[in-house]
Amino acid sequence: MPTLLQQPLRLLIDGQWVGCASGATMDVINPSTGEVLAQEALGGAADIHQAVQAARRALESGPWARMRPAERTRLLLKLADALDQHGDELALLETLNTGKPLKVARLFDVGHAAECLRYNAGWATKLNGETRAVSLPGDWHAFTLREPVGVVGLIVPWNVPLAMAVSKIAPALAAGCTVVLKPAELTPLTALRLGELIVAVGFPPGVVNIVTGLGTEAGQALVAHPGVDKVSFTGSTAVGKAILASAAGNLKRVALELGGKSPVFIFPDADLDRAIDAAARGIFSNTGQVCAAGSRLFVHRSVAERVVEGVARRALQLRVAPGLEADAEIGPVISARQRERVMAYVASGRAEGAEVVAGGEAIDGAGYFIQPTVMVNTTPAMKVVREEIFGPVLCVQQFDDDSLEQLAARGNDTDFGLSSSIWTRDLRTAHQMVRRLKAGNVRVNAAAALDFAMPFGGYKQSGWGRENGREGVEAYTELKSVAIDLN
Ligand code: NAP
Ligand code: MG
Repeated sequence: MPTLLQQPLRLLIDGQWVGCASGATMDVINPSTGEVLAQEALGGAADIHQAVQAARRALESGPWARMRPAERTRLLLKLADALDQHGDELALLETLNTGKPLKVARLFDVGHAAECLRYNAGWATKLNGETRAVSLPGDWHAFTLREPVGVVGLIVPWNVPLAMAVSKIAPALAAGCTVVLKPAELTPLTALRLGELIVAVGFPPGVVNIVTGLGTEAGQALVAHPGVDKVSFTGSTAVGKAILASAAGNLKRVALELGGKSPVFIFPDADLDRAIDAAARGIFSNTGQVCAAGSRLFVHRSVAERVVEGVARRALQLRVAPGLEADAEIGPVISARQRERVMAYVASGRAEGAEVVAGGEAIDGAGYFIQPTVMVNTTPAMKVVREEIFGPVLCVQQFDDDSLEQLAARGNDTDFGLSSSIWTRDLRTAHQMVRRLKAGNVRVNAAAALDFAMPFGGYKQSGWGRENGREGVEAYTELKSVAIDLN
């Protein structure tokens, strides 16, 4: 058993592990078994206030404020190495807390987090302003400076807890910010172990603070706190909207990575074997609890039977099991509540006339397992097609002689705009679709294309701003224009 689980869980504030002010706790549950793993401290407004003050002090005085960019790079690289060294333990904690397969947790969640740190470490020394050629009368020296935006509140969801926390911490620290992280109430474990490693590799006190607790308490207090300069949030669109309203008090900057209902288009000329495999992985990976999941499949009528049959076969073959079992491919959903929510969507789809051709049932037992599900005969007005389910449920629609214009319009007929995939061997079809789709990320003939160099984020109600790439780290800076009169 990891040592983290052999002690009461605490908050990290100003480099110290402390209990929460109220003393309140909540059970942390293993969704594969329903068993209690640990007691989480429920931080609240008082703890958030302490954490924000610590972050402010670390930002403005002390070693972090004076630290050269190259030293920030070295610290981030040390943290990446520490993640690798403790990778098996971190993966075990992630699997216990989310139910996802251990192999996936080790390779993807932990591996991804370490690489994210390395990618962003390099940016610390490359955040420059520019000289500008101004046309003011006389002689001027005009330039821009990039400065850390300040104290940043980071709020993350439960689907990819460690990698999501790191995807915000890494660019924020590369830019020289200090942070207060609020993990999802359901999944605090890897964030807290990460906090221990952050302390161990030598980040100064107050640079990273971690306050576990409820979104409506700790999260809300962080978003509303006047000492926070920016909030970066990943989660549901509904909470994203609430965050915008709460952030208005001091007009703090807000970045939002929200939900999606991403379309996948399979044209008749596609490499169908690869397309089928990718369509199945795109909706069933992480038990469908992925913001960019390809949840609406548009398939040409001429290949629909083969594609639906292929994806349905994959759904039936996938081994749904606790993540600690060696051959597990798909774990449970995160909670009993989430299972009820997903099953309510399946029922609503059936009631509205959709047909379930694979799965469609919850799996009996202590864990929160659901069969990977494929629904056909879905229509644009159905709830299952309009709303994000955040579970392993694929909704299939067909197209026939639609023009690319019409087809893209069908894909764009959603409040969301996070991701989309196109499967065709025809360059013209691919490029025409790429231009027409209103989504922040478009993939062509690719199952997954997550790379830290590529900006990630949403159009429309899928969010504000981009993570990853230069844009992702610049999002943690303010831009200052400086004009010096040399006359
Ligand atoms: P959520 O309820 O929006 O929660 C996300 C985070 O916000 C959690 O830490 C949550 O705390 C906190 N929170 C909740 N209410 C808050 C409030 N009023 N003020 C401040 N913080 C608050 O989402 P979830 O249920 O954890 O995750 C599922 C949703 O997240 C899905 O809809 C999915 O689309 C979205 N998601 C999007 C992305 C993306 O990159 N676009 C990635 C992953 C997930 P609690 O844990 O206490 O609720
Ligand atoms: Mg929630």
